[in-house]
Amino acid sequence: MEKERKFVKRIALVAHDREKKDLIEWVEFNWGTLGAHELICTGTTGKLVEEALIKKGITAKITKLKSGPLGGDAQLASLIAEGKIDYLIFFWDPMEPQPHDVDVKALLRIATLYNIPTAMNRSTADFIISSILFGSDYTPKMKDYKSYIERKIEDLEK
Ligand code: PGA
Repeated sequence: MEKERKFVKRIALVAHDREKKDLIEWVEFNWGTLGAHELICTGTTGKLVEEALIKKGITAKITKLKSGPLGGDAQLASLIAEGKIDYLIFFWDPMEPQPHDVDVKALLRIATLYNIPTAMNRSTADFIISSILFGSDYTPKMKDYKSYIERKIEDLEK
């Protein structure tokens, strides 16, 4: 199981509304590669990707979380913290404030903290998927937070 996991990657896909078309095109274009991996999406992104693939005669098993503004981004951040996501492809909209801006920021922060390969636009997604490291036995290196975890809280020392 763990051996398979090394090669079957868990890829999170998220796109804000005006970026969804771009993400769907990217998924369709790269289906030859993506089809071998597990896809985890926020609710609406997942539904639309699934529908677009069905139109192409492809039945894909996509895990759909809640819609982003209803907690989907927070669910994804939580999956990353649990070590259950290998890549994050997140086409966020730089021209539109979102009701869940704080969740978006949290998701990006957690992805950075856990050193998850993250694409925030289509060109970076192209670089990730065409990398020789994509789908390989690559483990992102985590910083050592031991001294932070074991820090003394001064007020409690008194
Ligand atoms: P959605 O969420 O896929 O449910 O639209 C994406 C987001 O806005 O973060």
